[in-house]
Amino acid sequence: MSARILVVDDIPANVKLLEARLSAEYFDVLTAASGTEALQICQRAECDIILLDVMMPDMDGFEVCRRLKSNPATHFIPVVMVTALDSPSDRVRGLEAGADDFLTKPVSDVVLIARVRSLTRLKMMADELRMRALTSREIGVQAPERSAIADTGKSGRVLLVDDRPSSYERLAPMLATEHNVDVEVNPAEALFNAAEGSYDLVIVSLDLNNFDGLRLCSQIRSLERTRHIPILAIADAESNSRLLRGLEIGVNDYLLRPIDKNELLARSRTQVRRRRYTDHLRDNVQNSIEMAITDALTGLHNRRYMETHLATLADQAAGRGKPLALMMLDIDFFKAINDSYGHDAGDDVLREFALRMRKSIRGIDLACRYGGEEFVIVMPETDLHVAGMVAERLRRSIANEPFSVHKGNKRIDVTVSIGLSTLEHKGEPLSDVLKRADTALYRAKNDGRNRVVMLPPPNEPSRLPQAAGGGR
Ligand code: GH3
Ligand code: MG
Ligand code: MG
Repeated sequence: MSARILVVDDIPANVKLLEARLSAEYFDVLTAASGTEALQICQRAECDIILLDVMMPDMDGFEVCRRLKSNPATHFIPVVMVTALDSPSDRVRGLEAGADDFLTKPVSDVVLIARVRSLTRLKMMADELRMRALTSREIGVQAPERSAIADTGKSGRVLLVDDRPSSYERLAPMLATEHNVDVEVNPAEALFNAAEGSYDLVIVSLDLNNFDGLRLCSQIRSLERTRHIPILAIADAESNSRLLRGLEIGVNDYLLRPIDKNELLARSRTQVRRRRYTDHLRDNVQNSIEMAITDALTGLHNRRYMETHLATLADQAAGRGKPLALMMLDIDFFKAINDSYGHDAGDDVLREFALRMRKSIRGIDLACRYGGEEFVIVMPETDLHVAGMVAERLRRSIANEPFSVHKGNKRIDVTVSIGLSTLEHKGEPLSDVLKRADTALYRAKNDGRNRVVMLPPPNEPSRLPQAAGGGR
């Protein structure tokens, strides 16, 4: 993984030093000698991480960070402040400007590489999500950057895992000033709670009395339900090697005792904010997947989904020697409904039609909107005889009850024609079955509409075994 790191410092010797260390680890390094230059590079080039000096003449690091974080185009790039200032209040200033992390000068090699690696992993994951979310944005889902910039990072759900009263009795009230905090003294329970509760952040003390806190961190990272929850570790100042190990296994950030309240709050806000942002991205991706396979008007699957899924259904049917039936439906004189009552009324009919269709089929049947007023239902483990009964019942459910349109002010009669076919022999392409259903539908239309036509007609025996009846 060759991430691109931008090193910003006004002193050339500092730039050279960091550049050499990072290059030795095969990172791709860009450099800038001022804040202004750094901003220009970020606009122009893709950077994965920025190492930012705080004290610079033209524009200090805090200001550069603020500008990067308030611009939707650069908001998501992790910023590490590199500073000789090491008081908690300096760190809080940086965190408030939106910094993701700090490195204290002189920078230790091991810490530098561990931090950069850990941030790179996070960045790559967020990039992947953002890329997929872009697709959904094209179909109109709200971009998450705007809300992320406005997010204060407060009111998060925080789980504090600590079994030393002297410690959690101090930390919990601090956290409670901005978040909803639960304290868990039993690490085994903590894992369970983290999986069950919807936490935005888990804070783990690494010096637990009876348990290795790092083990808990690693368990949180490996469990499907918890692996995306940020972890903030709390450790004694002398536990450096354990902290590095923690960063390697996926701890997102850490604090050293004695804990400064403002720094604890600032770091917690950063993690909570990041958690909400990636959650939002993940939801977007989920939405876009759903949008890609469903028809927006009726909520049924769309044609694209059905066509990709048909092959699987056909394989299953053939593999198990089970029958499979396919119904093609087309609303009669639908154009006339649009013409007489308007397009909105037509849409109402389509929605209601889809609803009645769903009520007539089983969960394993696949119903989709095939085109304008054409629908397809694929019925696994169903022979022609049973499918004929289902089709007939569905036809009646449409014809026997008028459809209400114009918010219930008008009721209109609707009928449907249905063509029906089944898989004739093992390995027959479903496109052939679809074609037969279409021919049957055409006949139903020609024979006067509002009827079901089967191909082959029911007196010709099917070459596949008859199903038990499918419980209908
Ligand atoms: P037939 O009985 O032969 O099927 O006649 P028909 O009028 O139903 O068939 P035709 O294919 O001539 O017309 C279908 C109409 O469906 C034309 C089109 O404007 C309308 N339509 C397609 N999609 C939608 C939609 O999403 N909403 C609405 N309201 N109308 C649609
Ligand atoms: Mg029609
Ligand atoms: Mg049509």
